[in-house]
Parts: sequence; structure tokens; C-alpha cells
Amino acid sequence: MKPAKKKNEFDKKFYIKWMVIAMTAIWAAIAAVWLSMHNWDTEESMKALAQAFTEQPAETEQQEQAPAEEESAVKEETAATEETEQPEEQPEEQPKEEAPAPAPKDATVYPEIDQLPSEPTVVNGILLANKQHPLPETYAPGENAEARAAFDSMAQAAAKDGLQLVAFSTYREFARQKQLYEGYVAKDGQEAADRYSARPGFSEHQTGLAFDIGEAGQEQHWASASFGDTAGGKWVKKNAHNYGFILRYPQGKEQITGYMHESWHFRYVGKEAATAIYNQNITLEEYLGI
Ligand SMILES: [Zn+2]
Repeated sequence: MKPAKKKNEFDKKFYIKWMVIAMTAIWAAIAAVWLSMHNWDTEESMKALAQAFTEQPAETEQQEQAPAEEESAVKEETAATEETEQPEEQPEEQPKEEAPAPAPKDATVYPEIDQLPSEPTVVNGILLANKQHPLPETYAPGENAEARAAFDSMAQAAAKDGLQLVAFSTYREFARQKQLYEGYVAKDGQEAADRYSARPGFSEHQTGLAFDIGEAGQEQHWASASFGDTAGGKWVKKNAHNYGFILRYPQGKEQITGYMHESWHFRYVGKEAATAIYNQNITLEEYLGI
């Protein structure tokens, strides 16, 4: 037993001895490598070692700061989204403030009324008929003589340019409009009919001041959007205001006029109003400020 114990003790001492030698050798090697990295300068190596230890906390500080920066960035982002939300709300409010009387969107929608008015609407001396301003059922002035004379003058001027203009539909009495509208509803349904035809009492043709214009021999373009692309259609659009007529339902103004674009439908309003409306590129509703 004793010899065995002695041998154990001997092994233990032997092991510790070589462990110390090995550790010393490793540390010496590390020190040698560190010194060699700093040109074998002991002072420089010690400074570098000190820096290595002091830099570590500095790095952790930076790491700690980083999330703080991220947080502030997030705050800025939320602040930015809060800011952008505000202008989004503003345009919604602005049209409400700017829009006079009826909102533009309502122009295509008929008001819920029990009966037609007893008097027509006249604004600044101009008779107005649209979906918000219907005419009395009894309003039956016939074709307006002044408007007819103005059309004839325009047709003569167009003839000099080789264009034979025709007013294929002008005054339409209440009963006729009723008949037409009811036919359209039966054919296409009320929703579709309301987009291209006026309900009785709401048609501008009942004023005697609306002229549907086309070209003789070009019947395929009558009451069609294609008329606007023909020589005759372009001529009338460009010159009508000189004779007191306006393109009543221009492109992109459906929300204001209540009707989709009609390249053939012109309305007599007199030279002064027609010229102002043409030059300002506005609608009759905008001109009258309603
Ligand atoms: Zn018309």
C-alpha cells in the first residue's frame, strides 16, 4: 500500500510541476506575441494592454447607447407619422370648407323631393336647370328665339369653313322628356338611365336654351362622344362661345354638372357669360358660384 501511495504522490507532484511549466510557457508565449505585436517595446505593450482593458467598457457603453438611439429614432418615426397624419386629415376638411352650398359629389345625385318647384331657378339673370335645380312641370317656353338666332349665325360661320352644322334636338317639353326617360329606364334600368338622361323636369332641353349639335351627313356621330373628335365637333367647341353657347357638360366635370361628358350638348347663356366660362375653362355651375 505504501509504495503505491508514494507513487501516487509522486505522480501528483509530477503533474502539477508540468502544469506550472506548461502554463508559464503559454503565458510567456502570449507575452512574447503581445510584445512582438508592439515591436518588443515593453512600455508600448503595457499601454496597449491598458487600452485593451479600458476600451472594452467603452464599447459596452456604445452598445448601451445604441438602443437609446434606436428608441429616439422610433420616437422620431412616430412623431413623423403623427405629422403626416395631420395633412391627411386636412384635405378631407378643406373641401368641406371650400365647397359652397351643395358639395360637388352631390351634383350627380337627385335630391329627394316630393314635387317639382312652381318657379324655375334664375341666378344672375341666367336660367339654371340641373339635378339640384329642376323646372316646374308647367314650364314650357318653347325654343328660345335668341338662342336660335345665335345658332344660325354660328352655322353660317361654320359653313364658311366647309362645315354644315345642324341642331338636331333643342326644345323638349316635359311630357316628351318623361316619355324618353321612362323608355331608357325600361331598357337600361334607372341607375344607368340617370347617367345619360335627365328625369322629367330636370332636363336642360325644357329651358329652350339647350342645343344638341351635329354635322349634316355625319349622323353616326350625333349624340355620340365621337362628335368631339370630328372636325365639326372641334370647331363648335372652339367657337361656340363667340355666339353665346357653352359646352355644357365638359370632360371630367361630372361631379359638378351632374352629367357625364356630352360633346354635342351646348347651352345658350349669352356671349358675355359664354366667353368668361370658355376662357376660365369652368362650368356654368362654377360661373354662377352654386
Ligand atoms: Zn342635349
